[in-house]
Amino acid sequence: MQGRMMFQPLLISSLIEHAAQYHGDTAVISKNTDLTMTHTTWLQISDNAKRFAQALNQMGIQAQDCVATIAWNNHRHLEAWYAISGNEMICHTINPRLFPEQLIFIINDAKDRVILFDKTFLPLIVAVKAHIPLVEHFICLSAHDADVAQALPEVKFYDALIAEQNADFVWPIFDETTASSLCYTSGTTGNPKGALYSHRSTTLHSMAIALPDSMGLSAKDVMMPVVPMFHVNAWGTPYAAAMVGSTLVLPGPGLDGTSLVNLIDQYQVSIALGVPTIWQGLLTAAKKLGSQLSSMKRNVVGGSACPASMINTFKDVYDCDTIHAWGMTETSPLGTAAQLKAKHLQLSDAEQVKVRLSQGRPPFGVSLRLCDQEQGTDTIKADGEQTGNLQIKGHWIIDAYFGKDQSALTSDGWFDTGDIATLDADGYLRISDRAKDLIKSGGEWISSVELENIALDFNHDISMAAVIAAKHPKWDERPVLIAVRHPESQLTEIEILKYYADKVAKWQIPDKVIFVESIPLNGTGKMLKKELREQFENVLMNEPSS
Ligand code: AMP
Repeated sequence: MQGRMMFQPLLISSLIEHAAQYHGDTAVISKNTDLTMTHTTWLQISDNAKRFAQALNQMGIQAQDCVATIAWNNHRHLEAWYAISGNEMICHTINPRLFPEQLIFIINDAKDRVILFDKTFLPLIVAVKAHIPLVEHFICLSAHDADVAQALPEVKFYDALIAEQNADFVWPIFDETTASSLCYTSGTTGNPKGALYSHRSTTLHSMAIALPDSMGLSAKDVMMPVVPMFHVNAWGTPYAAAMVGSTLVLPGPGLDGTSLVNLIDQYQVSIALGVPTIWQGLLTAAKKLGSQLSSMKRNVVGGSACPASMINTFKDVYDCDTIHAWGMTETSPLGTAAQLKAKHLQLSDAEQVKVRLSQGRPPFGVSLRLCDQEQGTDTIKADGEQTGNLQIKGHWIIDAYFGKDQSALTSDGWFDTGDIATLDADGYLRISDRAKDLIKSGGEWISSVELENIALDFNHDISMAAVIAAKHPKWDERPVLIAVRHPESQLTEIEILKYYADKVAKWQIPDKVIFVESIPLNGTGKMLKKELREQFENVLMNEPSS
């Protein structure tokens, strides 16, 4: 017998409908590409999304066609992505920091028919245009702009397109498993691969990230996603913001520390989200500007490991709880978030930080397991000690990559993340490495992440640290620390190496420290260790083989 409850498909349009109906006067504040500010509301976002959905229909775009965006986090981008997905088309958010060849590849692979872009990315569009023959419409996310029109004569302007429409549009109803958006992984080898999300996976993921033990979002929050909408849909936050009716502050192109501190203070942001490099910049700027970041209650750090010094500075100096989270493009992205349980509340501050420093535990809807590194399938006990290959399954986890017939899963239905980790009995995850970044010294594994975190404890001296595997004549590989010092720092190699002495086993201490001006980052702010390895992998080859 079936339950006799109503069935309503979980559609992205229902999120914006809810926000318009019950949080219509709640603000959406946006920094534009020309650095002016726009103050709008969820009702206006919804109305303009409907107008743009009609404009897409009039341009002949069909259900399940891909419509791409190359844009900052701003209100027009937000309207457009609700319009595209709500109207049964696929919103393909493109990372503008990809190399031109990768951009061309993904636009052609997705068969994008339309590209929406911010003026910043006009040179990029002009450069790749000849190589993307399937794109029929270029739409600049702005009012009419003479420079853009001159460089790209066929361009249409977003403001003019929506001005021609009314907001009477009714969102279509369709199967909740229909594709809604597409995001390519920022992989550094081979061609990027697409993760194709559905309306159902996106809506369930929004509920999960809003839960109290995830990000704890509510209509009282002023949320600022610094993580770009082209990086796994800003971790799903613009969907969750509509679901809970929080105020949204969209930082546009200003991702430097000073701009972010100013937005936080001016608009009383209570929760912001970004990768560790963003927070490094923000903390430096807050100190320089003398800001207390007094409105900030929580900040979410993910994408790379969060150093202890960051959690401590946010708590001790700014009374802000850092939520460390882990995920991937293939996992929508939330896999885990580090929130305490009741039993942790009796622990000392230092012990609590240890829990917060883990990547956290899964919300309902996600399961994790560890597998044997070599065998691939034997599961490893979740005892907080033994490491293994992290595998995941759940309602918002990839099944197959876009355009591929073959499933991306193991034969028993799990997705292998490529991360090496421990899990404890409560499900707290600790990532020790990407499988490819582990260092194998004399047959023993060394975690580069652990060594990087220790280096980052020097937070007044070291702003970035990468530990790579350098080739070694005797041990095959040995760890080498590549570090960026703050400009005024006098820290020496000997001082750093001494600091490691009582923190890791002697054989795990890096063989060498190399100070550099900067560390190359990929499009989502992650260190390009592959490039560092290529540059420095031979630095130990002339060392005595001791
Ligand atoms: P992406 O798909 O570009 O978001 O990259 C996903 C990968 O980033 C994961 O497989 C991890 O290796 C890494 N990652 C994400 N979050 C964290 C975190 N909190 N700590 C350590 N690594 C992370």
